[in-house]
Amino acid sequence: MIHFVGAGCGAADLITVRGQRLLAEADVIIYAGSLVNPDLLTYKKDGCAVYNSATMTLEEVLDVMFDAEANGKTTVRLHTGDPCLYGAIREQMDALDARGIAYDDCPGVSSFCGAAAALKMEYTLPDVSQSVVITRMAGRTPVPERESIRAFAQHRATMVLFLSTGLLEQTQSELIAGGYPADTPAAIVYKATWPDERTLLCTVGTLARCAEENAIRKTALIIVGDAVKQSGYARSMLYHPTFSTEFRPAKE
Ligand code: SAH
Repeated sequence: MIHFVGAGCGAADLITVRGQRLLAEADVIIYAGSLVNPDLLTYKKDGCAVYNSATMTLEEVLDVMFDAEANGKTTVRLHTGDPCLYGAIREQMDALDARGIAYDDCPGVSSFCGAAAALKMEYTLPDVSQSVVITRMAGRTPVPERESIRAFAQHRATMVLFLSTGLLEQTQSELIAGGYPADTPAAIVYKATWPDERTLLCTVGTLARCAEENAIRKTALIIVGDAVKQSGYARSMLYHPTFSTEFRPAKE
């Protein structure tokens, strides 16, 4: 059995209870060493074999899995944040399917949630934005043209950009060309939930300069949209005294 496990985005105690148990039971752990907190490996049992996938190809990762499976072992494939975002899990799962090997997926705290926590921010403020666009600038992995930053920017929703910190000049030009005014509030969150976490507030028009001045080149998320300001919103109807819900009648 192979368990894909979300490690969470930084702090080791952000892994789920289930994920921690799976780590403790695993005979083999393959972890994404570039971003997974190595402290998580303290949960492993004695004799567990550990592989760092940062130095491995897909084929090498699969060979470790196939070998473990042939020997009746349990493997944890530990991915940063939640495996469903930019995790390259599908290609692993397809290869396991082709061999009839069983697997499951244990979610984790994605960095877009860790970044919101670092900013003490609600992405979905009534009257400000009710949507979160999760995307990235095209890099070596292309982005379909219909999903360009420019195309999404016209909605002026809250946007969270992964994998884009090295491309901020282009990113900010695309955001502005698409429709965000240059003075739209923005934030850069570096290493959310790690001990050296940093949060920087700027505007869409100053993203590149802000990152440059603070020497931030990787492991950061860019958050843009009026919601970053965290003001000018309407209070929620859910907790409004005049609003009835399934659990609470309206007060007169
Ligand atoms: N599956 C992961 C994302 C992997 S892609 C998740 O759910 O978070 C890797 C990118 O995620 C990085 O380039 C960076 O943009 C972002 N990232 C990962 N961890 C981060 C963290 N702790 N703080 C800020 N950004 C992070």
